[in-house]
Amino acid sequence: MWPSAFEYQRPVSLAEALQVLSDHEDAKVLAGGHSLLPAMKLRLAEHEMLVDIGRLSELKEIITIRNGGVKIGALATHAEIAASVDVQRACPALASAAGMVGDQQVRNWGTLGGNLAHSDPASDPTTVVLACGGTIQIQSASGSRSVSADDFFIDLFTVDINPGELITSVELPDLSRHKSAYVKMAHPASRYAVVGVGVVLEMSGNTCTSARVAVGGATVKPTRAPGAESALAGSTLDEAALNAAADAVKSDIADMLIGDMNYPEDYRQEMAGVYLKRAVRAALS
Ligand SMILES: Cc1cc2nc3c(=O)[nH]c(=O)nc-3n(C[C@H](O)[C@H](O)[C@H](O)COP(=O)(O)OP(=O)(O)OC[C@H]3O[C@@H](n4cnc5c(N)ncnc54)[C@H](O)[C@@H]3O)c2cc1C
Repeated sequence: MWPSAFEYQRPVSLAEALQVLSDHEDAKVLAGGHSLLPAMKLRLAEHEMLVDIGRLSELKEIITIRNGGVKIGALATHAEIAASVDVQRACPALASAAGMVGDQQVRNWGTLGGNLAHSDPASDPTTVVLACGGTIQIQSASGSRSVSADDFFIDLFTVDINPGELITSVELPDLSRHKSAYVKMAHPASRYAVVGVGVVLEMSGNTCTSARVAVGGATVKPTRAPGAESALAGSTLDEAALNAAADAVKSDIADMLIGDMNYPEDYRQEMAGVYLKRAVRAALS
């Protein structure tokens, strides 16, 4: 199918891209195109102008920052993130999740910025960025701002980005001394997450002193699981603690569930408990 007619602009600098977005309120950013173009071809979305940011080399960089964390340019592809030694060191759960996205072609085209901006409930990086406590850097022609992942994801396909704004990068803290993992039940056709769980555990010896848990796939948006976090914190992550956390996560996401005829809500809710336990075990292994 063909999309409806649209104007196309390909700026060569970030400043130019921001100016075009500021001048045209209806303009839509085009990054890897792996969500936007299918939606336009199916006529689920129509846009008068696409601003192709694919040439902006300043948005492609992945670097270690002063606090030991990592800054990932919005245009870094999933394949580049999976292969990055900086990401593997500071935030191994994100490197691992990026390697689980779709197939090789999708990983070669899809970008972190596009993935977060689109915020498909079945996306993987969204859930991990939330579990890891990431920060999203956003810029417009009139300035820049940072939004914590805790505040960024608002609702189904809805995030805290205004017209004229662009995600420029995502910063993740140094989690190299933490235990972390992302696991998912992948849809057999698309590889999108039916259920995905990210965990970050701070350990003192055998005791978990604090935990961040995020669930995606089963929920309208990536969702923190405070009950599960409390059940894990202060425990030695033994079977009793994992069972308590698995029960808690099901309550944590009860009001946020989504489902379909193949994977209904109650099934995904149950699987969130199963995959939470798998995520903790993967983090410890
Ligand atoms: C067959 C298939 C399988 C897939 N499987 C998975 C999977 O298993 N897991 C998963 O997580 N994802 C999956 N994806 C999604 C893919 O990984 C991309 O991350 C996703 O398509 C969005 O990234 P993109 O760069 O293609 O963005 P685009 O499609 O170019 O844009 C998506 C949206 O984000 C906006 N946008 C893009 N960049 C920015 C920016 N820097 N600032 C502000 N707004 C921006 C666009 O305007 C648009 O609204 C799959 C996609 C396909 C086609």
